[in-house]
Amino acid sequence: MDTKAIEYHVREILKAIGENPDREGLRETPRRVAKMYEEVFAGTGYSNHEIAEMFGKTFACDTDAQESSAIVMRDISVFSYCEHHMALMYDMRVNVAYIPRGRVLGLSKIARICDMAAKRLQLQERLGHDIAEIIAEAAHSPDVGVQISGFHSCMTARGIRNVSAQTVTKTFLGAFRTDTELQKLVENK
Ligand SMILES: [Zn+2]
Repeated sequence: MDTKAIEYHVREILKAIGENPDREGLRETPRRVAKMYEEVFAGTGYSNHEIAEMFGKTFACDTDAQESSAIVMRDISVFSYCEHHMALMYDMRVNVAYIPRGRVLGLSKIARICDMAAKRLQLQERLGHDIAEIIAEAAHSPDVGVQISGFHSCMTARGIRNVSAQTVTKTFLGAFRTDTELQKLVENK
């Protein structure tokens, strides 16, 4: 990531909105923003495939692939930024479920995958799709369900200022597409 360019352009933005970038409170802001962007957009430099390889450590499970024994992880907390306004998407809760095929993902890896996929300029729908695709590859399972609920500051803090507008998106792959019992696993309780 070109942090020097980010610093330069943030300084230019400060000037453009009528600020004095040299006043005490703002002097270090371009550098701080560049450092923050480096962290919150860390996923930009990786493809879904690369993230699957990065966090794809699996363990053998001897459940003999019992058809219905889905693994569910709920309430994974992530933050992201919408690509339309570069505005924070916050209080996002991700529920993930998949049907293991002989191997299971470490639970912390599921959370890391969600976190890394969110560290890009995103749309909530695409974030759900990215997470599902990465989980499917990492867990070697075609059956994945993802539900995300979250608030978009471009809606809650500006424009129509609908502070309670929560967005819910669902992505279903494989058996989750048609099996409503499986779909329920990722719904909010
Ligand atoms: Zn937006």
